[in-house]
Amino acid sequence: MDAERAAHQARLARVVASLRGDGAGHAAPLGLSKRTSNLFRDRAAGPKRRLDLGEFTHVLGIDLAAGWVDVEGSIRYESLVDATLPHGVMPAVVPQLKTITVGGAAAGVGIEATSFRQGLVHDTLLDFEVLLPDGSVVACAPGNAHGDLFFGFPNSYGTLGYAVRLRLKTIPVRPWPSSAPSRSRTPRCTTPTGLRLPRSSGTAATPTRTASSTTWPGNAKATRTSSMAWSSPARTWC
Ligand SMILES: Cc1cc2nc3c(=O)[nH]c(=O)nc-3n(C[C@H](O)[C@H](O)[C@H](O)COP(=O)(O)OP(=O)(O)OC[C@H]3O[C@@H](n4cnc5c(N)ncnc54)[C@H](O)[C@@H]3O)c2cc1C
Repeated sequence: MDAERAAHQARLARVVASLRGDGAGHAAPLGLSKRTSNLFRDRAAGPKRRLDLGEFTHVLGIDLAAGWVDVEGSIRYESLVDATLPHGVMPAVVPQLKTITVGGAAAGVGIEATSFRQGLVHDTLLDFEVLLPDGSVVACAPGNAHGDLFFGFPNSYGTLGYAVRLRLKTIPVRPWPSSAPSRSRTPRCTTPTGLRLPRSSGTAATPTRTASSTTWPGNAKATRTSSMAWSSPARTWC
């Protein structure tokens, strides 16, 4: 992996030269030049200097004992997971969309099922390096001189700088998921309008539907008319 790190430094030198050559401190705002994006909001089109971090797609190192993987900021999760799975590990949080990049998820608050235990993507970052608008690169870690940037980076969406290298926590994976279904004797099924569904003896309760209403057997109150909103906050479907 030393060759990978040397190649990373060469890529970094090229992008810093391009940023400085393009005139750091230029009046036009800086934006990323990317072919894919998974941003929920629209971005205002306007004159921008474009920085191309498209080369920063490499895995730089994996430490199985310490439980981390070092990657470049523009690597997509699909490539990262392809690289870690043969080692029996995966990033602690893997966003669902394959084309989300690690830098985008770190700056944009990535989340997925394992966040239940692991936190958000940025909670799984151990340290990272940020390219600042003046072309300098700073290493950020909790407690170091750039600790403020470490903690301020999530939700910054590229406004503070661009992550060019990140170290992510990894977790072991098994070849299959395990699940433990449990039977409940007291199901608490409610309709979207918050009404408890009646419990029938042995057979499932089947509503009677007309063009304008739905009535649950044995419960005259549990009638939904077509004018009722389905957006009641008290809803649990089972
Ligand atoms: C349909 C849809 C489904 C989604 N599903 C999920 C999901 O399952 N899980 C989840 O966590 N998120 C999800 N997202 C949200 C997504 O993770 C965020 O919008 C994320 O920021 C997108 O990252 P990206 O790599 O595509 O970057 P982009 O969309 O290109 O950029 C997003 C923002 O991050 C900034 N940015 C990009 N790279 C860097 C970098 N290296 N350093 C600093 N800033 C950078 C950009 O400037 C921009 O402001 C979804 C979004 C959409 C539209």
